[in-house]
Amino acid sequence: MPQAFTSKRAAIYQDVPDEKWNDWRWQLSNRLNHVEDISKVISLTESERKALNSSGLFRVDVTPYFISLIDPDDPEDPIRKQIIPTAEELNSFTAMMEDSLAEDRHSPVPGLVHRYPDRVLMLVTTQCASYCRYCTRSRIVGDPGQTFNRQEFEMQLEYIQKTPQIRDVLLSGGDPLVLAPKILEELLSRLREIPHVEIIRIGSRVPVFLPQRITPELCDMLGKYHPLWMNIHVNTPNEISAELEAATDRLTRAGIQLGNQSVLLAGVNDCVHIQRELVQKLVRIRVRPYYLYQCDLVPGAGHFRTPVAKGVEIIEGLRGHTSGYAVPQFIVDAPGGGGKIPVNPNYQLSMSDHKIILRNYEGYITTYEEPLEYKPHDPKTCHACQNKRPEVGQKGITALLDGEQMFIKPEGFDELHNRGGLQHRLKDENKWKPLGIGTEDSSEQKISD
Ligand SMILES: *Cc1c(COP(=O)(O)O)cnc(C)c1O
Repeated sequence: MPQAFTSKRAAIYQDVPDEKWNDWRWQLSNRLNHVEDISKVISLTESERKALNSSGLFRVDVTPYFISLIDPDDPEDPIRKQIIPTAEELNSFTAMMEDSLAEDRHSPVPGLVHRYPDRVLMLVTTQCASYCRYCTRSRIVGDPGQTFNRQEFEMQLEYIQKTPQIRDVLLSGGDPLVLAPKILEELLSRLREIPHVEIIRIGSRVPVFLPQRITPELCDMLGKYHPLWMNIHVNTPNEISAELEAATDRLTRAGIQLGNQSVLLAGVNDCVHIQRELVQKLVRIRVRPYYLYQCDLVPGAGHFRTPVAKGVEIIEGLRGHTSGYAVPQFIVDAPGGGGKIPVNPNYQLSMSDHKIILRNYEGYITTYEEPLEYKPHDPKTCHACQNKRPEVGQKGITALLDGEQMFIKPEGFDELHNRGGLQHRLKDENKWKPLGIGTEDSSEQKISD
């Protein structure tokens, strides 16, 4: 047996009875958000105090479970940096964008982002179990006043229903697993009623912030809506505890395929050795590393950014050096709405008609001889080529060179797009300018009135 993962509890929680500690409701209602409470658990630096005492900061909230994973005396602790703000968060908004991925521009109805041909991102809540300082959606996340209402859920479902290209629906937020269980189940069952929705995915950090929430009842409920996939969000090996292992065990036993999406963060996990330990521990708890993201250009998160080359270096240090299952894809999500772009180390040194010069992970150089004769399959007699269903976009670079439109709108797109709260927001672009920290008026950012 490999070495077991451990459990931790900060000193102030030693006397909390186990029934309470293991109860997700207790964890949620005892979250820490004020400087006085947090300073009882970890010794705060001047910079952290300054941030915690300033107004207009992106929401701070941490579960007792998650804060207990921090080494209270280490200001460089990699978990601490993810959830405790520092004064750096108040600095430098240059080149930062409130909605850096232009999600709002790709929203046909409030909370639904349709950027790729066959799948949509459905934002179902703005609430999380704890809040990551580098949150890519800090423009809406954390504010309970901006969360989505029933009318918006109905519009999201209606859009999915009317758009047969959508075969994959990704629930995100905020964190879908903090929704009231009844509402979450209603959404899942309504999605399952739509025949063209083949798979449902949930993006959640609840297993990491609040593993107690992954109860057998929740797993039974989720298991009714297969095929269901889930991506969790672990950034460092320190987050892999006995509790997280128990949660992923329950989820995988309920038949849910688990992946991990992490964000490359300066001073947190920008190290090939930390990343190798992370991905190896993830596969031990049966979580397949899926994406490693370049940190987005969100206001207040500039100090977390790394050069893109760092991500490439990390992938190069994983591929070949450890199990293929443990190697994620490094992604730059293009600012302005270009979508996810994979960026890879280059193993192909040159290519001619007959030969490719390649290198392996150790730097060994090899020549691959191409086949002399290649008889490609015939698209005219190929069943798959003849019967492929109409697609949105996906024509690639040839369409672009021919001057063709890349995004072919599905029928009814315009009518749906011009409904709801989005229109009033986009018609006055000036209103949608980046808001600096300290701007108290959040009414302009509302998803819907
Ligand atoms: C990330 C994302 C998806 C899912 O992309 P995959 O590469 O399929 O995981 C879908 N829609 C939006 C808007 C996204 O940002």
